[in-house]
Amino acid sequence: MKQFKAESKRLLDLMINSIYTHREIFLRELISNASDAIDKLYYKALTDSDLSFNADDYFIKISIDEEKRQITISDTGIGMTEAELDEHLGVIAKSGSLQFKKDTELEDGHDIIGQFGVGFYSAFLVADKVTVISKALGAETAYKWESCGADGYTIEPCEKATVGTDIILTVKENTEDENFDEYLDVYKLKSIIKKYSDFIRYPIKMDLTRS
Ligand code: ADP
Ligand code: MG
Repeated sequence: MKQFKAESKRLLDLMINSIYTHREIFLRELISNASDAIDKLYYKALTDSDLSFNADDYFIKISIDEEKRQITISDTGIGMTEAELDEHLGVIAKSGSLQFKKDTELEDGHDIIGQFGVGFYSAFLVADKVTVISKALGAETAYKWESCGADGYTIEPCEKATVGTDIILTVKENTEDENFDEYLDVYKLKSIIKKYSDFIRYPIKMDLTRS
């Protein structure tokens, strides 16, 4: 088990406990990461003649498995190597995380917290376990990153046929005060996507699995 950097751990605790009224922003953050990952592949294809970019092959898919309490955000983007999983997901707020997004136009203009780009870790706003399965462009092996929150994370080799990333969120159980089941509802997710991710330039497909 690897440990998050100290400042990351403090930030993660703070975030999980203070932004709970804006939990739904997790989906905006994960969809924007998926879109960024496809962009990276797209720009690479522009300069690398060995790579072709067929627009139909690039999309973001959101799947719900109610039985397993899981939401999966899949992309056909550039993926992450073992080292990238460690570097990019092991340090909270490394890049754009927690940066104020001045350009974000929200329905509720007074919603200050909702305008922060809290990044990948916003997954923990709704999930008690986050699993990232990724295969990088050109890599032979895929890797699985997994974390149950501030305690740390593991990385191990795994199977994945195609290049890209699957982010699997195991959604928290309901508490007395809060309903987490709603995030397993396809209509709820659709409305969050409409609210925050209408501008994403790749198709967002929804897939409801009943296991
Ligand atoms: P930011 O998007 O502002 O860089 P995040 O916390 O959202 O910060 O993500 C951290 C980093 O993790 C990204 O910069 C990217 O390198 C990597 N990453 C996250 N999600 C994905 C993904 N779906 N595909 C490829 N890389 C990703
Ligand atoms: Mg991001």
